[in-house]
Amino acid sequence: MAKWFARKPSAAPGPRPDLEARAKLRIGIPKLLNVWTTHQFWLGFFGALGVPNNRVVFSGDTSEEQAREFGRGRGTVDCCYPVKCGAGHYGELVFGQKRKIDILFSPMIYSLSSFLQGHVADSLACPRVMAGPENIKAGFLKERDVFAENGIRYVSPLVSLAEPAIVPKQLYEALKDVIPGLSYKETRAAVDEGYRTLKGFNTEMRARSREILEWCARENRPCVMVLARPYHMDAGIGHEIEVDLQAYGYPILWMQYFPIDDDLMQWIFGPDMAAGHIKSPFDIDDVWPSSYSANTNEILWGAKVAARVPWITCAIRLTSYECGMDQPTFTPVQQIIERSHTLFFSFQELDSTKPAGSVKIRVETISFYMQQSSERIIEQKQAVTPPGCPLLPQAESKLATAKAELAASA
Ligand code: SF4
Repeated sequence: MAKWFARKPSAAPGPRPDLEARAKLRIGIPKLLNVWTTHQFWLGFFGALGVPNNRVVFSGDTSEEQAREFGRGRGTVDCCYPVKCGAGHYGELVFGQKRKIDILFSPMIYSLSSFLQGHVADSLACPRVMAGPENIKAGFLKERDVFAENGIRYVSPLVSLAEPAIVPKQLYEALKDVIPGLSYKETRAAVDEGYRTLKGFNTEMRARSREILEWCARENRPCVMVLARPYHMDAGIGHEIEVDLQAYGYPILWMQYFPIDDDLMQWIFGPDMAAGHIKSPFDIDDVWPSSYSANTNEILWGAKVAARVPWITCAIRLTSYECGMDQPTFTPVQQIIERSHTLFFSFQELDSTKPAGSVKIRVETISFYMQQSSERIIEQKQAVTPPGCPLLPQAESKLATAKAELAASA
């Protein structure tokens, strides 16, 4: 017996030169396209593999200076402006770092882990976004291999973030020769950590949006909802229109980070579900049956939310150039918003030239209309929203319910 239970001293873990090498890697990630809503996945993923977060370097915001200094002569043929900007981002990571990067990691994101997943047909990325890295890369290989010249390994895996089961294989295959000692098992664990980190970040952002909404509800103050693709958060692509609006005193909510807590979703979409128009709060089949594109689906869902929440008195829609993906959504989004009396403003051709003058005039116009109409819009929308708003403290919620009932019976 004594022999069975006797424990052999476990072997002391030996040195891991591969881990030491990983801790010294510098990884550059171009901050463009869908990286805007997946950056936390990559930080969690590489962190779990032993690459410290401060050694994962993102390029800066898109700017004319960035394109001029780092992307000149490397542009490739593409009608899509947000993709064309990629040359500046790649160039900044290759030529513009004080301390050189070892790996330029530019994922071809095929699908996204959208919060609407499971309620829509699919969560695919725009095909131009997905293939963007291939296009941008060509500008750095056309005469000679600029990555190799600078001692940089270029890694650009196809990644299906909407299908977590296949992501470890996709990333392992792409990284096994560039991350020292990488095993499939640890890639799988790192992918789990990536999803966990992304989820934690999204949850925190939604909680902050909820705080804004609760403040608006408590104070009966208006706010603005931005309906746009993730890359419009980039100051050089979205031109910080929402920042200018915020300077007028209107809080901003990005649709991507709208709170999706059950109580709020039931309050917003309960009547639609009870009437059989939709099966769940995240079902957009009533307005967009062809729900294959993740970003498009979220924009349509955001329009439905903006139409239903009283304190969102204005929605602004951003889109770049004559974007083919966005074209079919213009009319439905506008109609959903406007039929609820909510103000709707659309910036449809945000392109390379910073349209500072015209943006300033339009922001002044939006602010003027919000000032003039928000009180009336809040009242009109409150009159048709269900009682028991979870954004309001209980007593105020009851008062608002009574007011709404009174208005309805008048
Ligand atoms: S959605 Fe439109 S503007 Fe955006 S990347 Fe795709 S093609 Fe370009």
